[in-house]
Amino acid sequence: MCMTRMDQLPEGEVTVTPMKTFPIIRDLVTDVSFNYVQAQKVPALLPPPMPEGGYRMFQEDVERGQEFRKCIECFLCQDVCHVIRDHEDNKASYSGPRFFIRYAELEMHPLDQNDRRHLVREEMGLGYCNITKCCTEVCPEHIHITDNAIIPLKERVVDVAYDPVAWLGRKILRRTNRSAADADVQPAP
Ligand code: SF4
Ligand code: SF4
Repeated sequence: MCMTRMDQLPEGEVTVTPMKTFPIIRDLVTDVSFNYVQAQKVPALLPPPMPEGGYRMFQEDVERGQEFRKCIECFLCQDVCHVIRDHEDNKASYSGPRFFIRYAELEMHPLDQNDRRHLVREEMGLGYCNITKCCTEVCPEHIHITDNAIIPLKERVVDVAYDPVAWLGRKILRRTNRSAADADVQPAP
């Protein structure tokens, strides 16, 4: 999936190696099933029942998550993330940058009523990320993974954990907190 042009590389030998974060199957082929397991854990979008006249959203809110949908799932960001590249045992409690942009996209969706912040903090390992930006540097789609997804997600997670005003807001706005399986079940209209 590498799209780097040979004329952009320095003169001399070019070494191509398989991704390090995932188990090698053969030659350059690696087993990236870790990512599909992580994808299954993401609670789906949970919109409210369709109101008369359809859903209405501000264009600005619609566009906020657009960047994240450019992801082609090359998993290069997962490969360079030191949290799982150098520490195999972290894989049990870390979803990785590709999925942080997915969580950010859903959390920023203007119609979403689900609340994944506790999940991202407690089970998906957002706190392990120390914003080194390696993932952003390698993304072939030039998605600003750290600046536009991970940092805003960290801010939201901090709000939910430590901000009493945000806690009160949640009580008033009644956001739900559903698992991946629960969120697939849409509320009755
Ligand atoms: S910024 Fe965070 S998610 Fe991205 S490579 Fe660094 S530690 Fe991993
Ligand atoms: S490097 Fe970019 S395109 Fe590739 S999986 Fe990560 S976010 Fe998606």
